[in-house]
Amino acid sequence: MDFIVTSSKRPGAGETVLGESFKTLPGGKGANQAVAAARLGAEVTMIGRVGDDVFGEEILKNLNLNNVNTDYVEPVTHMESGTAHIILAENDNSIIVVKAANDEVTPAYIERALDVIKGSDMVLIQQEIPEESVAYVSNKCAEYGIPLLLNPAPARKIDNQIIENSAYITPNEHEAAILFDGAEVSASLRKYPNKLFITEGSNGVRYFDGEKEVVVPTYKVEALDTTGAGDTFNAAFAVALAEGKLLQESLRFANRAASLSVMKFGAQGGMPMRMEVKATL
Ligand code: ATP
Repeated sequence: MDFIVTSSKRPGAGETVLGESFKTLPGGKGANQAVAAARLGAEVTMIGRVGDDVFGEEILKNLNLNNVNTDYVEPVTHMESGTAHIILAENDNSIIVVKAANDEVTPAYIERALDVIKGSDMVLIQQEIPEESVAYVSNKCAEYGIPLLLNPAPARKIDNQIIENSAYITPNEHEAAILFDGAEVSASLRKYPNKLFITEGSNGVRYFDGEKEVVVPTYKVEALDTTGAGDTFNAAFAVALAEGKLLQESLRFANRAASLSVMKFGAQGGMPMRMEVKATL
């Protein structure tokens, strides 16, 4: 759950300031991506956990409203839901994330959902869960031959085996620098042709096609709030690939969906329905 405060001034240590507005909105990378994929027409099952607090109920309600199957989103007793505390001030954001129930998405928990993974066209995973769980899912996807799209966000260094097990990896520029120890973007891209896709905000997405670097430009829009742009991009990319679309077409679809998402407030607020993407592509 995102707790969003807007203020003209960011408080310093020990300081109290009066804010302008406050909202709670459903968020979290995994949930955002699940909602975006469902709005784009995919049949989505989320594997995750919520707390046994009121936010957990809200989060489940929101996922269900968006047609995401929540059979494998179980509340953890005596635990809070994962929250992000966001201050929007002075044209920038500061965020504190408390993972709480997210840390209970352990390999043992995921093991109960292996049949869902086995029966999927595509698995999309992000890193607001323990690293060992990402490793576990990546190994299972490799074993079952299910394509895995890894969105390595929030950024952390990851095991080479996870990279090998992934069919697609989609960091933004900042995450790519952490993932590849600050190596030149071009060098990283060359190492993983048609596998590593670095998103570049209003510039679009960059990858190496085996012969040359390619930039697939995104669409020009009035950006109001870019929160969730990456999540929408990843979901749309996964949906298009799962449907068997070719790479370039899938990237255009992802850019189009993500560009539509930045035109409205909130991570999920602007995530488009399939019809909207189709109408504007
Ligand atoms: P966020 O953390 O804000 O969700 P991100 O940093 O993970 O996003 P970005 O590289 O900023 O990811 O954006 C992901 C994709 O969203 C881009 O590749 C592009 O398709 C789209 N996008 C982002 N910002 C804009 C923009 N201002 N105009 C059009 N498209 C955008």
